[in-house]
Amino acid sequence: MSKTPITSMTEEQLAAFVKENGWPAFRARQIFSWLHAKGANSFDQMTDLPKTMIAQLEETCVIERLTVERVQKSKDGTEKYLLGLADGNCIETVLMRYEYGNTVCVSSQVGCRMGCRFCASTQGGRVRNLTAGEIADEVYTAARETGERVSHIVLMGIGEPLDNFDNVMDFLSIISSDKGVNIGMRNISLSTCGLVPMIGKLAERHLGLTLSVSLHAPVNEMRSSMMPVNDAYPLEKLIPACRAYQKETGRRISFEYSMVRGVNDSPQTAAKLASLIRGMGAHVNLIPINPVDGSPYSATDAANVRRFQKQLQDLGVNATVRRRLGTDISAACGQLRREAQKGGGA
Ligand code: SAH
Repeated sequence: MSKTPITSMTEEQLAAFVKENGWPAFRARQIFSWLHAKGANSFDQMTDLPKTMIAQLEETCVIERLTVERVQKSKDGTEKYLLGLADGNCIETVLMRYEYGNTVCVSSQVGCRMGCRFCASTQGGRVRNLTAGEIADEVYTAARETGERVSHIVLMGIGEPLDNFDNVMDFLSIISSDKGVNIGMRNISLSTCGLVPMIGKLAERHLGLTLSVSLHAPVNEMRSSMMPVNDAYPLEKLIPACRAYQKETGRRISFEYSMVRGVNDSPQTAAKLASLIRGMGAHVNLIPINPVDGSPYSATDAANVRRFQKQLQDLGVNATVRRRLGTDISAACGQLRREAQKGGGA
């Protein structure tokens, strides 16, 4: 019989589990705190639990922890970790230092099945979903490696978070708990390539996080050429879903727009983008594409990115250029994992 991944249980699930075992309710709070605040990696460290309970937990449950396989440190303070999972797979986690605090960019799946043409994470397809406990341990590992507090999380690493909906929801519950590391939803962003039905499901949760939508193009033909997901959920479905999300949650969406030379960076395209999203109060994050092996795309140069930004602003759309961190350590999604797979590094 396979063991129960206890680190993936939300407070409610853990409470139910403790009850099923006939233990008093306060044991759930103790275990949760050992796992998510005190970083226990074995049950015998839980010194305030009775010996019999520890023995039973050891027999039936597993604590999911990641191993640090490789660390890369950028000159700008960004740190990137290649992390090993218990089944031998690996993922990437990035810690970025901003003035407002440390942000950890977490992976949500091993690989990805969305197929975006510019993205390294999707090149080998999706291997499996990460569990809630594994995603949480990405945050704990980054905090432990730096010895610093993590204040913000972005779900922008390997994988499509809304393609692993239930585990990601459990992760959000665990990570925002005041019995754990207590990172508030206001400090969490979730990025999606645009899985329309899941955007609706997310809206119903009223979580108060920031939703980022990877838009990258304002016309279907262009978007489909970059992102196959657009064939299933084209702009005439995606944009109304974004508007509905804003209406339902009262939270503004931000759009990611990766700029590819000669593909989505012309003045005509800027005008189309502005008319597509004008009036939503949405924010556009412009980022020159980070060229990856096996992708035909190259980045728009800085002057043209600024021109595109100014044009959007003149047309009444709020746009910023994302500062690029960690370019010297190939910190864009999935690149380190691909390198390690090819080089047999981990
Ligand atoms: N699957 C989610 C989150 C992971 S990717 C999503 O698609 O939103 C996080 C962001 O990085 C997305 O906007 C994605 O489109 C973008 N991205 C991926 N590879 C990139 C690259 N090589 N250069 C620039 N942006 C990239």
